[in-house]
Amino acid sequence: MDRERNRNVGNRYLIIALIAICLFSCKENEKTAVEEIVAVVEKPEEIVEFGFNLNNYIVKRDTIKKGDSFGEILERNHIGYPQIFNIAEKAKDTFDIRRLQVGKPYTLLCSKDSLERPKCFIYQPSLEEYVVINFQDSIHAYKSRKPIKYIEKTATGVITNNISETLDEQGLSPRLAYKMADDIYAWTIDFRRLQKGDRFKVIYTDKYIDDTIYTGVHNIKAAYFEHNKEPFYAFEFTTDSTKGIIDYFSEEAKNLRRAFLKAPVKFSRVSSRYNLKRRIAVYGFKVRPHKGTDFAAPIGTPIMATANGTVTESRRRGGNGNYVKIRHNATYETQYLHMKKRKAKVGQFVKQGDVIGWVGMTGNTGGPHVCYRFWKNGKQVDPFKQKLPEAKPISDSLKIKYLDFIQPIKKQLDNIHFLEDVFEEQNQPEQVIKQSDNLISLNN
Ligand SMILES: [Zn+2]
Repeated sequence: MDRERNRNVGNRYLIIALIAICLFSCKENEKTAVEEIVAVVEKPEEIVEFGFNLNNYIVKRDTIKKGDSFGEILERNHIGYPQIFNIAEKAKDTFDIRRLQVGKPYTLLCSKDSLERPKCFIYQPSLEEYVVINFQDSIHAYKSRKPIKYIEKTATGVITNNISETLDEQGLSPRLAYKMADDIYAWTIDFRRLQKGDRFKVIYTDKYIDDTIYTGVHNIKAAYFEHNKEPFYAFEFTTDSTKGIIDYFSEEAKNLRRAFLKAPVKFSRVSSRYNLKRRIAVYGFKVRPHKGTDFAAPIGTPIMATANGTVTESRRRGGNGNYVKIRHNATYETQYLHMKKRKAKVGQFVKQGDVIGWVGMTGNTGGPHVCYRFWKNGKQVDPFKQKLPEAKPISDSLKIKYLDFIQPIKKQLDNIHFLEDVFEEQNQPEQVIKQSDNLISLNN
């Protein structure tokens, strides 16, 4: 014990001495610099990242620049070409070094001596993933992920104007609003027509990488929305884990989603509707039926599959330009024309909302739009005139499982109280009236 303390103290003096030498050349802020560094020495903190104790290395961080290559980066850091070639050869089964992307971060762990020789190259293709090419002793490479942490949170809110404002006032992510409006309640509540006094409770998870990087709302586990005094419960439930189908159901196991989205593009306008009697000037006002619905949107706008299904056609042909056709079931098919680029392969299963291409002007078209064709029993019909089917109901066997699954979650949701209700219980009606506009609670 004592000996160890002595050694620590000894080390500290040595380091202070080194700092003092350094400061002769640095000159500025001598006192504070010494104090700060001493404080650090007294409490050596282990910094672990990518599974390495960074204290053992000189850490050099940078991003891949235009024209950079694995070889050049290592060469700049004093590694010769025979060894670079050797490293690339041995790493290639794990990672193809030619796939480095401009703008992605990389880290070099270098020896803590005057040579500063790289021992390890770490490349981060995304915030979560990283590739380690370790050439410290023997050469080996592997892929890994940074630790992810999900933190469950709850929030409640009362609408005074609109949902974004209510969330914003509490510093909550606008993604909560998008998720509720687009993913959960898109078919049951019109978020453009919320009423003053509508209120909600939500249980959601926030996602963090490495404990520190907040990457936003990960998912909404359950929600309760009171619209015009009517309650709408929603519970997230995986109905098909192999296809990754997650839906929201009511407390009675009714699917909240409709089988089809109203439009294949967001923020678009209908520029031409399905019209069997359309007459066009350039054709001498002859009847040229338009069996599709045109949604005008800027070039590059993502086009979404309006329902789950299997891609039956994906190609470029004549007036259609680049197009994709999807079969949803025995009755319905949809088709999307004039794409700039397709992102769907024949035989591929797509989910409602998946991007299958981007708006363009290929084929016969006067401006950027997607011509959306809706087929029912092999005939093109007007999707706006259809009574669209409800999304796939939950199977009987799954329903039992679902009702069991949501029981504790519903209890959790019901136990979250609106602040105004808490006030009412405390019998302070005057205060409640004054404050209820801004009453919002955040229960973490
Ligand atoms: Zn059209």
